[in-house]
Amino acid sequence: MSFSTFGLPQSILDILEIEGYKDPYPIQKSAIPLILKGRDVLGIAQTGSGKTASYVLPVLSLLNRKKGTKDRQVDVLVLLPTRELAEQVKEVFTLFEKGLEHSAPVMAVYGGVSINPQMKALFGISVLVATPGRLLDLVGSNAVQFDKLQTLILDEADKLLNLGFKDEMSQIFSLLPKKRQNLLFSATLNEKVKEIHQFLLREPEVINVLTKEGNIDQIRQLAYTISEEKKGPLLRHLIKNQDMKQVLIFTASTYKSEHVADKLNKNGIDARSIHGKKSQHARKNALEAFKAGKLRVLVATDLLSRGIDIEFLPHVINYELPRSPKDYIHRVGRTGRAESTGEAITLVSPNEEHHFKVIQKKMKISIGLLDGNTISF
Ligand code: AMP
Repeated sequence: MSFSTFGLPQSILDILEIEGYKDPYPIQKSAIPLILKGRDVLGIAQTGSGKTASYVLPVLSLLNRKKGTKDRQVDVLVLLPTRELAEQVKEVFTLFEKGLEHSAPVMAVYGGVSINPQMKALFGISVLVATPGRLLDLVGSNAVQFDKLQTLILDEADKLLNLGFKDEMSQIFSLLPKKRQNLLFSATLNEKVKEIHQFLLREPEVINVLTKEGNIDQIRQLAYTISEEKKGPLLRHLIKNQDMKQVLIFTASTYKSEHVADKLNKNGIDARSIHGKKSQHARKNALEAFKAGKLRVLVATDLLSRGIDIEFLPHVINYELPRSPKDYIHRVGRTGRAESTGEAITLVSPNEEHHFKVIQKKMKISIGLLDGNTISF
């Protein structure tokens, strides 16, 4: 799927190309068509998922269809918790706004800086990006009006609520026209966010996007206790028995990754290892073959646990535990990316059991431990 299928204005497609956005990220695939249709959207997504462009592009496309007037009415209001985020979001709007048939001037307002210049500048603005407190001050001095508001966006809604902006937000909502599009983005769907989305959104489409790290709820996680000598046979049994076609295996050392790959090859399972001591060329080749589905098993050290980007990887197996609990999440997060669910299996020897408990405790996860020694293979 490419950005050109959405029906976005040509000027936006040109900027996407210049900026090196090749294909839409999962949240963009889901959100852009819905927003263009005028639907309310609840997006569960973190920074890094591409959520900003997922609303900026369609919102600007909708604005492009109308000619703005010069007054203190804004068309789009983005509420967010911090000035850093406000500046960041403003920049994304400004970047993609260039070249639109009807320009949509963008401005960010937040506290901690003098209000007078903001009051003056708030004229002929189409997209206003604001933190709640400063926005209410500006409303109080009649610097901004919302009678023609089309779209309200809450970005990082959970953080807005955690920072205690609920009352300010309610006050702002009461000033907005009832008929409008609402978009709400939050990294978590806690009780506070649920309350606000139930009150704010009309029959929303819910988009839940798994990001690379941190959120591994959708991944089926299993672990087997197994003696060190039986790890190899159990590994081969799992791959063959479940007919796994694309498996990423992690080991703790370079030596082990070579050893595991060798053993698999000797047993008729096509595997290559990849680690820091391999040449860049060999690494690239192995990774490309694996990504293209031409190599069944890739055995890697933690070198690969971050950053490897494979569209859909069904299986990750931890042959050995990573040292750092965070690396467990990075490894396991290679599967079940985006909308797809994946499976992560960890082989735990008696020596590793304590460390596995530590990982689960630190990462606040709980993984059922099956007894691998009872499996016949
Ligand atoms: P965000 O989650 O909105 O903070 O975006 C994270 C980063 O991903 C930003 O640096 C964007 O410029 C970048 N980005 C967003 N969408 C894409 C895409 N489809 N292709 C490449 N980069 C993207």
